[in-house]
Amino acid sequence: MPALEILKTVYGYDAFRGPQADIVAHVIAGNNAFVLMPTGGGKSLCYQIPAMVRPGMGLVVSPLLALMADQVAALRQAGVRAAALNSDLPGDERRALWRAIHGGDLDLLYVAPETLLRPGVLEQLDGVRLSLIAIDEAHCLSQWGHDFRPSYRQLDALAERFAGTPRMALTATADEPTRQEILSHLDIDEADAFIAGFDRPNIRYAIEEKDNPRAQLKDFLKRHEGESGIVYCLSKRKTEETAAWLQGLGYDALAYHAGMDKAAREANQARFQRGEAVVMVATIAFGMGIDKPDVRFVAHLDLPGSIEAYYQETGRAGRDGLPSDTLMLYGSEDVALRSRFIEESDAPEQRKRMERQKLDALLGLAETADCRRRVLLSYFGDHAGPCGNCDTCAEPPKLFDGGIAAQKALSCIYRTGERFGQAYVVDVLLGVENERIAQFGHDRISTFGIGREHDNRTWRAILRQLITLRLVEVDLAGHGGLSIAPAGRDFLRDKPALMLRVPPPPRARRGKVARG
Ligand code: ADP
Ligand code: ZN
Repeated sequence: MPALEILKTVYGYDAFRGPQADIVAHVIAGNNAFVLMPTGGGKSLCYQIPAMVRPGMGLVVSPLLALMADQVAALRQAGVRAAALNSDLPGDERRALWRAIHGGDLDLLYVAPETLLRPGVLEQLDGVRLSLIAIDEAHCLSQWGHDFRPSYRQLDALAERFAGTPRMALTATADEPTRQEILSHLDIDEADAFIAGFDRPNIRYAIEEKDNPRAQLKDFLKRHEGESGIVYCLSKRKTEETAAWLQGLGYDALAYHAGMDKAAREANQARFQRGEAVVMVATIAFGMGIDKPDVRFVAHLDLPGSIEAYYQETGRAGRDGLPSDTLMLYGSEDVALRSRFIEESDAPEQRKRMERQKLDALLGLAETADCRRRVLLSYFGDHAGPCGNCDTCAEPPKLFDGGIAAQKALSCIYRTGERFGQAYVVDVLLGVENERIAQFGHDRISTFGIGREHDNRTWRAILRQLITLRLVEVDLAGHGGLSIAPAGRDFLRDKPALMLRVPPPPRARRGKVARG
C-alpha cells in the first residue's frame, strides 16, 4: 500500500505534516535517516509507515516500556501487526512471539536496548528480514546529551551487523555536538539528516532573577487559575515543601520525585494526566513519557541543567498548540551550585569542559537582553527574528555601562581578601559603618565607600551578574565567600566594556512594599 494511503487508512490523517513526506519517501527508498523534530512534531509515523511499506519487519528501539506498550496497543487497534519484545514476557508468549517474528508475521517489533543486547537476541534476529531499524530517543546514546544511557552506546553494533538495512535515529533534543555524536555512532550521513524547526510559537518564555521565589511563583500561578502545569525544583525535599505550601494556598498540588514509592508516584502522575487543574511539583524525574496535551504552564524554581533540558522541560507545555506560559527563576546560588556539581564530579576534564560550556550557554540565555526565543533557537542552529512572545520582547531590559561598577566590585572583593560574602562586600562598597567591618579594618581600605552611586539592591544585582558572567566565584562549600575568577583577573587587567542589566524595581509583597 502506498504511504499516503496508509496515512489515511491506518491513522486517519489527510496529509503529511512538515518534513514527514520527505522522510518517509527517503526511507522507503532504502536510505538511512536522522530525524530531529520537536516533541509532538510527529516522529512516529516517519518510521512506522516505511516499516509497513517495505518488505520485512521494522525493528524499533525505544527506551521506555510504558510508551512502547501504548504505541503497540494503538497500532494494533488500527490493524497494524505490532508487538513488543519484553524481557519479562512469560515463556510461552515469548516463544509465540519469536515464531511470529521468524514467520514474517510482524510489521513492527518494539524492543528496549537492554533486551535487544541480551545474549542470543541479535543472533535470533540474524535470519529475520528487517525493513528498517529505528532508534527512538536517539539522544540517549550521546554522552554530551543529558539523558545518556550506556546501553544505547552499544547500538552502534547494529550498523555493522545489519549493514544493508536502513537505519533511522529520531530525537527531539539535539544540539550540534549531540547531533554529530549520534550520526557518527550510527554511521548515518550528514546528507541523511532531516532537521525540522524547533520553534514552539505558542509557548511564552520568561526568565527572572530569584528575588522572592514563592511570591514570584504565586504571581505566575495567579495567571493560571484552573489550569494544569508543572513546577520543576532541583531537590526532592523542595518539591514536597512547595507542593505542601501550594496546597495551603488552595491549589490541587502534587509532588513527584524519584524518592517516592512507585505506587504514590504513579498515582500522582495519573491524577495529573486526568486532572483539570493539577499543579505537579516535580524534579526532573517527572518528564519522559508525560503525554498530556493541555499542560498550560511550566515553571522552573531552580536553574535547569542545560539549554536542552530547559527546552525539553518547557516543551511539555502546550502540545495542543494553544497559548502556554513558562517562567524560569535563577539566582547566583544556582549558578554556584551547578558549577560545583561540575567541578566535583568524577568526569574527565574534557567532559567537564563541555559541561561548563553548556552552563555558560544557559546563563547567556538567562542574562540576554535579546529575544529569548531567538537565543534559544540559535542554540539549536535555527534562526528567528524577535518573537513578540517572550519577556524580553515584551519589555526590553534596561542596560547600563557597568564597566566601572564591575571594576569597583572586583577590587573590593580583592582588597577584603576574597573570603567575604555578598552582603559584606556590598556594605564595604557602600561605606556602611559597622562593627564587623571595623573589626577587620575594612573601613580604612581604599574601596570603602567607593560605590555610593548605586544602592544596595543594584550592587547585589551587579554582583549576581558578575557571578553569572563567571568573573566572580562563590565558595559554596564554605560560607559563600566571593573570590575573583580567572576571567575576573583578565577583566581587571584589560578593563573591557561591560553592559549590565538594571535590576527590576522591587516587588511588592502582600500589600506591603518591600524595602529595597
Ligand atoms: P513525536 O514522537 O514527534 O513527539 P508523535 O509521533 O507522537 O510525535 O505525534 C504527535 C501527534 O501528532 C500525534 O497525536 C500524532 O497522531 C499527530 N500527527 C502526526 N502526524 C500527523 C499528521 N500528518 N497529521 C495530523 N496529525 C499528525
Ligand atoms: Zn521574543
